[in-house]
Amino acid sequence: MLFLINAYAVVLGVCSGMGYEMAVENLRQKLGNPSGEPQAGADYYKGAGAAAIYIYTHNEDYGSTAKVCVHEYHHLLQQGMLHGSITSTTAPGGVVGFNDMERFQTKDYGGIGGLWTTHVKGVMDGLPASIKLFDLPTYVLVIAEGVGGIGDEDDDDGDVVTTAIEDLVPLLWPNDCAGVDFENRLDTLVNGALAEGEAEYYAANVYMNSGGNTYNDDSDNNLNWDGGADWMSRVANNEEFMNGTPGKELYHLPLTFPVENAFKKLEELGWRQHPVGQICYTHLKNVWRPATTQAELMQVNIVAYAENSFVVGFETVFNSSWREFVCHLETHHQISRAAQTCLKSTKEPPKREDCTLEIVLGVLGRLAFGALAGLVSLAMYCGACACGIPNMFSAKHAKAETYPLVLYSPAC
Ligand SMILES: [Zn+2]
Repeated sequence: MLFLINAYAVVLGVCSGMGYEMAVENLRQKLGNPSGEPQAGADYYKGAGAAAIYIYTHNEDYGSTAKVCVHEYHHLLQQGMLHGSITSTTAPGGVVGFNDMERFQTKDYGGIGGLWTTHVKGVMDGLPASIKLFDLPTYVLVIAEGVGGIGDEDDDDGDVVTTAIEDLVPLLWPNDCAGVDFENRLDTLVNGALAEGEAEYYAANVYMNSGGNTYNDDSDNNLNWDGGADWMSRVANNEEFMNGTPGKELYHLPLTFPVENAFKKLEELGWRQHPVGQICYTHLKNVWRPATTQAELMQVNIVAYAENSFVVGFETVFNSSWREFVCHLETHHQISRAAQTCLKSTKEPPKREDCTLEIVLGVLGRLAFGALAGLVSLAMYCGACACGIPNMFSAKHAKAETYPLVLYSPAC
């Protein structure tokens, strides 16, 4: 889970309002894990007293879980920059209102025990100072991966979760939430693909790779998780996804921002968000601009906030447009897209009202001319405007269509 979208909130001096209620409900879902389908995540609200990371235990795979925590921490940094809360890539250093050992704090509300909190805190403390950019604490919440989350089978799960929330709220949003902005504007600034790819690359291939983390490298801790091997296996898998299923012809990156539900639309075409992001980032780092530093990637987000535009942030830092980057990626992978992307012109996504006439014609065609004519009219309808076409048609049609139609069609 990348970012929590809170749409209807306002800044209040007390813990109340729609945004606050949504934030608490989000905590309840993360801690209680009612579906038994855990999804790690991270949340920071501008003006908050602390940030939160949610990680879920899996077997005794401490290293993998610690890597997930580092991944989510990168999302916190991204959120802090896109909120304007982090405005420099220079670490604050020294005492920033709390002891550095309090920077990362773990909470085991479910009493899971074991070495989860020890190893996760060790890895987080072991990150280099250069990325310890928040001047507030981060609470890492360790949650059981099964249904019920931090709740004990013998207890009323709701009570355990409620008690944890009562403990967390004053930590995350002190002084009765004074100054906390539960409204979230990240959805207009974030490039989800690049953000995901960056988070995984740095978590696995840098900060959990050999030489990247003092705690992970220390053999006394018996962790020694091989993030480099993990990343390479992902790169190999992603190449299979591109050359096999779902295939490069259905791989799309948005050209303009904000993009509504970009990942949801890609998932309808068979692409999961992490491979999409990793392929995007891999191209940037391995092919397009190998000299790219993490500080530059951070600067994209800092400028994006300042200029209220991701594309301005990208172009300012890289002196090349995001659109040119997408074109470079598509050319490199020999994706046979219709000309729009590489011609650097984009076609507006179809609107529902534009489709009405086509739908009427399609229905009339079937009524008037029978099944064969109906199919013909449907095909025309697909070509004219992809609105409302079932996913199967969208997917098949994607090979002949251009990016905006494919990406926007399921929701238009
Ligand atoms: Zn992520």
